[in-house]
Amino acid sequence: MSEQDLKLQFETMEAPDFKEFAKAMTDYIAEYLENIRDRQVVPSVKPGYLRPLVPEQAPQQPEPWTAVMADIERVVMSGVTHWHSPRFHAYFPTANSYPAIVADMLSGAIACIGFTWIASPACTELEVVMLDWLGQMLGLPEEFLARSGGEAGGVIQGTASEATLVALLGAKSRMMQRVKEQHPEWSDTDILSKLVGYCNKQAHSSVERAGLLGGVRLKSLQPDGQRRLRGDTLRDAIDEDIRNGLIPFYVVATLGTTSSCTFDALDEIGDVCLSHGIWLHVDAAYAGSAFICPEYRYLMKGVEKADSFNFNPHKWMLVNFDCSAMWLKQPRWIVDAFNVDPLYLKHDQQGSAPDYRHWQIPLGRRFRALKLWFVLRLYGVENLQKHIRKQIALAHLFEKLCTSDDRFELFEEVTMGLVCFKLKGSNEINEELLRRINGRGKIHLVPSKIDDVYFLRLAICSRFSEESDIHISWEEIKSSADEVLKSQKK
Ligand code: PLP
Repeated sequence: MSEQDLKLQFETMEAPDFKEFAKAMTDYIAEYLENIRDRQVVPSVKPGYLRPLVPEQAPQQPEPWTAVMADIERVVMSGVTHWHSPRFHAYFPTANSYPAIVADMLSGAIACIGFTWIASPACTELEVVMLDWLGQMLGLPEEFLARSGGEAGGVIQGTASEATLVALLGAKSRMMQRVKEQHPEWSDTDILSKLVGYCNKQAHSSVERAGLLGGVRLKSLQPDGQRRLRGDTLRDAIDEDIRNGLIPFYVVATLGTTSSCTFDALDEIGDVCLSHGIWLHVDAAYAGSAFICPEYRYLMKGVEKADSFNFNPHKWMLVNFDCSAMWLKQPRWIVDAFNVDPLYLKHDQQGSAPDYRHWQIPLGRRFRALKLWFVLRLYGVENLQKHIRKQIALAHLFEKLCTSDDRFELFEEVTMGLVCFKLKGSNEINEELLRRINGRGKIHLVPSKIDDVYFLRLAICSRFSEESDIHISWEEIKSSADEVLKSQKK
């Protein structure tokens, strides 16, 4: 097209006033959350339900915002699983609070991309300080915190899976450098083919995935009878691999496994890693929030031996997704592994504050520290501790109800807000029990299976959960069990 053909058009787009929309949405959100208990926890829609409810194409002309509001119930809510309903007991909790929602609104308004310090100094600096606040709340050793004055510090990753991968990449670059110094004649491919990492067989699937993405071998080790990875098991595996010419470089210890919330023997594992110079990463995605209560810190004994530590405030600490807090003693291994420095991302202050783009996989990052700041200030540590303690107490209430019925048994000791239980009897009967429970539609649970034993998991997920809600869930489970056992007798 020639310059003459190109007719510049300066017509301004129509910009309706959306303030009323924002206000209406704020009211709707409060209404939704305050009355969430009354909604059916899992929708009864079928795949493909949504397409017929919306037009084939985007509208050419703007619609009134009231039309959008009117469609939220019809199109969206009819297909929403209500994760914040007290009847929702599946997976692990995902956090939700007004302070975090409001912070996300502000983050959306500022809408900066904080990949370097200069790209938005407050975005980086608030994150550095919030991770220090949070680290102190958890009782993490000073060597993890930026305020210690060294290179250490925290970063907000999107998810625990990313943190595990980032730590693996750091561990890989550290070991590659070490081995190259000892064996300058070995090629990168030689070394890579020898690297091996370890985790509990019960570790989250994201650990295995990190190995695949990072192009290294990861071995799942057999836990003990209480499903904890022990130091001896790890040491034996490492010794054998070294004898076979492999190079152990990375271990993930899980504090609070996904299936049944057990805790690896971190202190023992830490000793093994230290004695072999292996990077130890701690994945405390769910249970880490409980360490804000000093009485649970015994479960992270040995944390000072780790190189990196991660947990998800977005699971259990009232900070909406996504906010996965990660601390590194020596971020230089990550920064070096990811360092590409095009001219357009360079700035004069480089080196005096973190450029978080080097600490993570994507380049772009939202202003997520705002939601930590709002939640920590508006609840205060004491209220967050009360939240954790209450949810654990509710789990123990369910445990008591369950163990008082001799048809049921626990599969795992209850330590956090998760109860693993089953009907005494076969896997089939428990599969049928879960089918009935979820089929009745009043509450929602998911199962798990360990060593071929199928069990049900009841997680305390909603911050609205009260004792009466646990009684309702228990009654629902009991009636479903009555149905299953009755149908068995026929
Ligand atoms: N690690 C553990 C122990 C988990 O329980 C989970 C999820 O439940 C994850 C990792 C993955 O978390 P994310 O969704 O933040 O990647």
